[in-house]
Amino acid sequence: MKKERILIIEDEEDILEVLRYNLEREGFKVLAARDGLEGLRLARSKVPDLILLDLMLPGLDGLDLCRKLKEDPVTRSIRIIMSTAKAETSDQILGLGLGADDYVPKPFSTKALIARVRAVLRRGPLKEEADRRRIVRNDLVIDLSRHEVTIAGKPVPFTATELRLLHFLASHPGRVFRRSELVSRIISENAVVIERNIDVHVRSIRKKIGKLRDLLETVRGVGYRFKE
Ligand code: CA
Repeated sequence: MKKERILIIEDEEDILEVLRYNLEREGFKVLAARDGLEGLRLARSKVPDLILLDLMLPGLDGLDLCRKLKEDPVTRSIRIIMSTAKAETSDQILGLGLGADDYVPKPFSTKALIARVRAVLRRGPLKEEADRRRIVRNDLVIDLSRHEVTIAGKPVPFTATELRLLHFLASHPGRVFRRSELVSRIISENAVVIERNIDVHVRSIRKKIGKLRDLLETVRGVGYRFKE
């Protein structure tokens, strides 16, 4: 069975080590970050099953980090348990409003925390298929299930390859992809895509999305990205 991966984002070394030790002993694979930016980087690159998120962190605080994770389609589905020693419940309410799954006040018992971790993981990943397949950005709606792109509610005819290309880029806003990566990611059964054709598809997509064309950025010497 695949080990479930937990990312601990915690700047207090002793808490981090106690959590790491106990979670590993319970059979989890543990990743650790000691500040918010490192935590965000690990969350984006490793996409763990669950994040134990301390709220008071150097670099980027827990609430901002949570907000960023929930905005990014890649990390949106990661389960989050927040914790803080702060007495106010306003952070708790805000955190849960931002999409955290649970909240554990500090100090906590390791045993109780692990029980919470198991309970949240039992809910399964937050991957709402429909949600991932439909991307909304300004007036632009990209819907893979319906095989449809609309701008301000009006359908715009897209080829299958253009739709997959735009959807893929829009699912990873702010990330640059090389043409070769795009070719391997958007390959479909009935369309052969070669690298230099990516430029042709992008040109065609820009033409179709008109005034929203700036969303699709060229990164000179690298490839393309969807605006963050
Ligand atoms: Ca802290």
